[in-house]
Amino acid sequence: MKLTVIGCSGSGPGPDSPASCYLVEHDGFRLVIDLGSGAFGPLQGVLDPADIDAIYLSHLHADHCLDIAPFVVWHRYSAQLRRPRVPLYAPVSADRRLAMAYADDGIGDPITDVFDFVFVGPGAFSLGPFQVHTTRTAHPVECNAIRLQAGGRTLVYTGDTGPCRGVVELARGADVLLAEAAHPEVEGLPGDLHLTGRQAGEHALAAGVGRLLLTHVPTWVDREEQLRAAGSVFPGAELVSAGSVYEI
Ligand SMILES: [Zn+2]
Ligand SMILES: [Zn+2]
Repeated sequence: MKLTVIGCSGSGPGPDSPASCYLVEHDGFRLVIDLGSGAFGPLQGVLDPADIDAIYLSHLHADHCLDIAPFVVWHRYSAQLRRPRVPLYAPVSADRRLAMAYADDGIGDPITDVFDFVFVGPGAFSLGPFQVHTTRTAHPVECNAIRLQAGGRTLVYTGDTGPCRGVVELARGADVLLAEAAHPEVEGLPGDLHLTGRQAGEHALAAGVGRLLLTHVPTWVDREEQLRAAGSVFPGAELVSAGSVYEI
């Protein structure tokens, strides 16, 4: 399994990275996980969008889904012949929400000519070569963390989450945990929203994962401090950057 970080800036794009977007490849299958603000540009530097086999959206916050809009434009207008629809795995209501993001005509221009929507909740299913398990995270809107297994290897991505027992269970024994670490170590931040660096480390330790990759640090939070806090609990924790590639 190969993981390419397209965007990892938390809560919105930054000067050095788009918002959340990851490419996971196995056996020639290309799965895009989240397509946040600013990500569709750099994504095209890594692969031809026509080669995307499926898209998975953890949730419908702008920093995880809004570049679906330029994807629709590309899909509709870049080819002489009609392109095949792309399977889009996302929470219920993604079809209406993303249609409204694309065109504000009061009802939303249906984008079902571009996507085959597959509505995702907590559960298990097959997606190309991947065995997939999902669980609901602690976040203000429906967000599903995802566990991908293929070729005897396992990658878990938290999406956005506050401290969450279910995420620990989902990540149990994974080779790699790609965990958000958006909150700084300060008092009074809202719960059920994001993890601190320390909490990301605690989740990785409790789950017994092999490797912890930290992501989704906002531009106003000190990345090195997030790494230090996570590393104090889970030594060897790493910060991802846009363009990083990992063989899992
Ligand atoms: Zn986010
Ligand atoms: Zn979010």
